Amino acid sequence: MTCDNCGKKGARIRRVTRTMGRGKTTFLIENVPLVTCPSCGESYYTAETLKEIERIRLHWRQLTVEKPFPLATFGGAA
Ligand SMILES: [Zn+2]
Repeated sequence: MTCDNCGKKGARIRRVTRTMGRGKTTFLIENVPLVTCPSCGESYYTAETLKEIERIRLHWRQLTVEKPFPLATFGGAA
């Protein structure tokens, strides 16, 4: 695709995980398409992506799924 920054072709989409919010309202968005350009080295989100991020940010409580963290229980002696 064409880079919005330098206008050259060769920009690629990388899927990244974005952390949003803070504290108790922290949540992650996976597979966010980040455009990276090897010509100018710029990385950016398209207007479409930013719109979707904003939509998720506003409705994240409905859109997120609880994912338990891997948890190990310590069973040995002190
Ligand atoms: Zn570029």
